[in-house]
Amino acid sequence: MTTSSLSNKLEAVLGKPTETRRRTYLGLLQSLERVLRAEQARGYDDRAVIGGLDRFLDILLSEARGIARELQISPPFRYAQQEKAERGKWVAEVLRKAELLKSNLEAKGLPERLGSSPEAPITQLRGVNSRLARKFERLGVRTIRELLYFFPRRHVDYSLRRRIAELELDLEQTVLVRVWEASARKSLRGRQIIEAIVGDETGNMRAVWFNQPYLGRKLTPNTQVLLSGKVTLWRGQKALVSPEYEFLGSEPIHAGRLVPVYSLTEGLSPRTVRRAVKEALDEALPGLGDFLPEEVRKKLGLLELPEAISQAHYPESEASKAEARRRLAFDELFLIQLGLALRRREQEGEEGISLNTDPKYLEGFLSQLPFELTGAQRRALEEIRQDLAGPRPMNRLLQGEVGSGKTVVATAAMLLVAANGYQSALMAPTEILAQQHFANLCSLLGGVPRGACFFSSTLPCPLSLGLLTGGLKEKEKEELRQLVSEGKVNLLIGTHALIQKEVVFHKLGLVVVDEQHRFGVRQRLALRQKGPRPHMLVMSATPIPRTLALTIYGDLNLSVLDELPPGRREVKTRWLGPRQRQRAYDFIRQQVARGHQAFIICPLIEESEAVQSAAAVSEYEHLSKKVFPDLRLGLLHGRLSSAEKDEVMRKFRSGELDILVSTPVVEVGIDVPNATVILIEGAERFGLAQLHQFRGRVWRSSFQAYCLLLAENPSDEGKTRLSIMEKTHDGFLLAEEDLKLRGPGEFFGTRQSGLPDLKMACLSDLDLLEKARREAWRVVAEDHGLRNHPQLAQEVRRLWQASVELN
Ligand code: ADP
Ligand code: MG
Repeated sequence: MTTSSLSNKLEAVLGKPTETRRRTYLGLLQSLERVLRAEQARGYDDRAVIGGLDRFLDILLSEARGIARELQISPPFRYAQQEKAERGKWVAEVLRKAELLKSNLEAKGLPERLGSSPEAPITQLRGVNSRLARKFERLGVRTIRELLYFFPRRHVDYSLRRRIAELELDLEQTVLVRVWEASARKSLRGRQIIEAIVGDETGNMRAVWFNQPYLGRKLTPNTQVLLSGKVTLWRGQKALVSPEYEFLGSEPIHAGRLVPVYSLTEGLSPRTVRRAVKEALDEALPGLGDFLPEEVRKKLGLLELPEAISQAHYPESEASKAEARRRLAFDELFLIQLGLALRRREQEGEEGISLNTDPKYLEGFLSQLPFELTGAQRRALEEIRQDLAGPRPMNRLLQGEVGSGKTVVATAAMLLVAANGYQSALMAPTEILAQQHFANLCSLLGGVPRGACFFSSTLPCPLSLGLLTGGLKEKEKEELRQLVSEGKVNLLIGTHALIQKEVVFHKLGLVVVDEQHRFGVRQRLALRQKGPRPHMLVMSATPIPRTLALTIYGDLNLSVLDELPPGRREVKTRWLGPRQRQRAYDFIRQQVARGHQAFIICPLIEESEAVQSAAAVSEYEHLSKKVFPDLRLGLLHGRLSSAEKDEVMRKFRSGELDILVSTPVVEVGIDVPNATVILIEGAERFGLAQLHQFRGRVWRSSFQAYCLLLAENPSDEGKTRLSIMEKTHDGFLLAEEDLKLRGPGEFFGTRQSGLPDLKMACLSDLDLLEKARREAWRVVAEDHGLRNHPQLAQEVRRLWQASVELN
């Protein structure tokens, strides 16, 4: 398998029944059926087609191998050579399979017969012209399917029916009334006012609308109309001001029930959206089918899909709305899990490298460490040891706060691998991090690096480390690669450079990927290609709530370092307003005077690296000329060459710089224990998870450290985030809060999560997620190509294609 994205891989797993091919198949199946039935009718004389059945089948086979496979008529049966009784049995059998296959193919709903195809543009719907369609497009709705899945943000409950005399103030209610008279006039400010006198058997009242001339013409005397809204006082009397209305005759969608409230865009009124959705429901639901396997649906007591979609828009009651949500949320989670399960399945078919993980290999290493492993580290290491010893390749996520000590655990794993004569690769997202890892590993393993290599003889096996970065000279790279390919380097550390095809391992046994959320699956898998089924350990410092972890890393096993090494102090965190900027600068100056160092993080402007870097340059100039002219400042941004970045980092680490000004891009992993302050500009624009990452930069120090959050003009949500940051230091709690505030899509910043859209599912719904997970994994275990679930296969494909890439 190549490095293609997940969707491509699923495509390969599931085949490609595009719409055209599906139709071709159906056509072929129909002619096959006709011929076979003719044979039956003729008593199997092999003359239903000219030239005989075998030739006909050969032609058919060459046109559609898929069909031949499904019907199991390949290899050929040789009809002409069989007895009539055999022919009869065979024909009946093929007919049966053809019937099945046909109904599978048809189940998706042929547009000609079953109303509008969900894939058709919404202009196919009555009342939707291309002008309207363009407005919908702004909401991301182009096809009928997208409209069906364009769920309301909420519903207004207009189901409380009253008579006029019973109406209460300030309550959403509905009355069925008759129009006595309606008149239109202009208000003083030029608004058009429509005022109607309406009544029922208990009394009369006024209803008022503004700027709806069209309505004025429809409110003719004696018309019956449902009015829904809050009752207010209008000129001293109870009245309905701008109520929703629905003329009697059709099933109400605007009034008198739970009425959906949709996101709107300019020129798109609530009534228009409701009508279009209703039209889509009526047109397309009957042919939609249900991709969820019947047994799953029944077992979990879920609504059928058309019913669920219909109830999600126009629920009969709060209860049925909840049922609809449950079904649709299940779908989302189930399909995600299915994608993950398929991927996992692919990996699990694989034979791994089973290693000898005798604890004796680690004794030397662990005993020379200047500290004891925490309980969490020991647990994680044990889990990893078991994976490495097992028959399948390990796929494990090691998750733990900044500073929780993931590196030591990974190092131990790499030592076990080396003891078995295999190599390990450690991939970091940036050069700086790769270097830091190299330096850390050298010191953990008790030695001093020589150039890009390091050798240690104190460990159970001779061990050599290599550091491969873009910064090396071509000749050095060449030498290092040579050593790697000969197996003389057991442990290669680097950036993406490790993926390049020039890098060839002698015997790759383990791949470790640091800061997993920075890499796409593609890169993760590419590195894995470098050896025959190496074990894989991915590390992430982003604390992810368990639900989310299960969702996006569902193909990985999880080890969590939920315990920090002892003696770590919390970083004191303060949220400062713009007027306190000077105080923040003074504070930095004070810390520098005590011999410490500081980070200043520039605000997040936009995703463009160029703009971001330019802003950092000007911030740097301002700070070094105006604010800290007497201090030594350095600048780090994405536009620097890696050599320049390295130089700045080296200087900062060695204490030649007092303050490092940096763009947010270089947020991860930099480790400078002497730095005690981090000032974050525009702090309101970052998510909690990211702020916490920044804060982690000064958390390593054994000195009291400080995090200053400068915010210009935070929104309410921004304020909430900032005060949570002040109060909370637990990354997992922060992650939960972040998830609540921003939703999963934005959790890692846009696109990084690679999650397909979740519209209905809340990630707090652990129970549903676990059910979805269980069912999805079971389905895949039983039918890993989803051949018996063609509709489901198509749904998975659709979902995973739409998402960028699973991360
Ligand atoms: P991270 O999980 O962020 O990658 P590191 O592995 O870099 O964290 O560890 C952070 C620091 O804590 C390192 O200096 C490491 O040597 C130290 N450390 C790791 N484990 C322990 C421990 N059990 N006790 C004390 N210090 C530890
Ligand atoms: Mg780390």
